[in-house]
Amino acid sequence: MKYSAPKGTRDILPSEIFMWQKAARTFSDICHLYGYEEIRIPTFEDTNVFQRGVGDTTDVVQKEMYTFEDKGGRSITLRPEGTAGVVRAYIENGMASLPLPVRMFYDITAFRYEKMQKGRYREFHQFGLEAFGAEGPEIDAEIISIVNVFFKKMGLDKISLHINSIGCPKCRKAYNELLKDHFRPHIDEMCEDCRNRFEKNPLRMIDCKVDGEKDIVKNAPRLIDHLCDECRAHYELLKSRLDNMGIAYTEDPNIVRGLDYYTRTVFEFVSENVGTQGTICGGGRYDGLVESLGGSATPGIGFAMGEERFLLEAQAQGVVFDKPDYVKIFFAAMSDEAKDYISKLCYQLRLEGIGCEQDLLGRSFRAQMKYAGKSGVPYMAVIGDEELSGDSLKIKKMEDGTEMTVSKADLIGYLKGI
Ligand code: ATP
Ligand code: MG
Repeated sequence: MKYSAPKGTRDILPSEIFMWQKAARTFSDICHLYGYEEIRIPTFEDTNVFQRGVGDTTDVVQKEMYTFEDKGGRSITLRPEGTAGVVRAYIENGMASLPLPVRMFYDITAFRYEKMQKGRYREFHQFGLEAFGAEGPEIDAEIISIVNVFFKKMGLDKISLHINSIGCPKCRKAYNELLKDHFRPHIDEMCEDCRNRFEKNPLRMIDCKVDGEKDIVKNAPRLIDHLCDECRAHYELLKSRLDNMGIAYTEDPNIVRGLDYYTRTVFEFVSENVGTQGTICGGGRYDGLVESLGGSATPGIGFAMGEERFLLEAQAQGVVFDKPDYVKIFFAAMSDEAKDYISKLCYQLRLEGIGCEQDLLGRSFRAQMKYAGKSGVPYMAVIGDEELSGDSLKIKKMEDGTEMTVSKADLIGYLKGI
């Protein structure tokens, strides 16, 4: 019997993990610069958290969730995203009493039962953040700038920022009526999903992946043209804040985002490379979410970035990540006595934070030399009788074969410096 990883999942191998780690470190460093701290939330939640938090009418809840009954008869769902769990944690842990805004970032796996495609998996990874308690557009502009700084620090460009405002329940209510008037005469031509959305959430019809290219959808009235005065002012101020920081954006009235709880600002970072899965990062404001999950009315905003899509994009842009040399030096032993010396030396070096390796397979001296050449370790040193009795070692740089004599007394300092 040969096993393979479940459909839609993949192994991230030691040979590629450094790219993930680099991205994760960079993301967390940048979040810290902005005053965010990490939160770790459970991989699964009570199904209701997502039903209420993500929204009953979304594809995520209707089609994509991994939901099961546990042995205690509870309905459990593997998290399809991070926001609902973070909001649940914010409420449950009484974080509303902390100084506002409460700002948190995360690095999670997420699970959605989706059709496998490039950049679309059933288990995937997201960086994201959430900020609670700030209503004005300053924080919207600030979190957009976090994504921008992240892309720049990782060496990516050619990712465009699209922004839109989807208003508040007040302007959306009036707009939904306008949309219904628009779609009503054509409802028979729409897909089954859209026919359901027509009553429950006509806004979602604009986002439809099936009907999206039809003229009837393209010519629909645009919410951005029907915002209330407060939402309009919020949006205008957001744009001026972005202008002020020199962050370029495209206004895109078609972004409505897949999730129900968004209000006002919505944004996406879109690549020209990954094709239909070009949205690397999506986010927005969700002023109604905390309340709908049982907290007190609290404005919120956040984003999530698909790590797989980010790395695909980095690859497409030819960004090269340097693989760190965790192990700096290999010590080859010419005798059993040398082996004893090396194992003690390696222990001392590791206590000093210096990565080093010794033979662990009982290899012959020649085989150890061969291994050192193949393993990619940047330096090596041979320990024979001369080195055991003398007070220096020869450190060889594998790249060009140059040798440096280093006294045993200076070895730690020397290895720390290379
Ligand atoms: P899409 O329209 O591509 O399905 P979405 O609107 O469902 O995206 P969000 O829920 O906003 O996506 O999730 C934020 C980000 O997470 C996306 O922009 C994307 O980068 C990533 N993402 C979402 N679903 C998947 C998936 N199945 N596999 C890999 N990455 C994903
Ligand atoms: Mg989706």
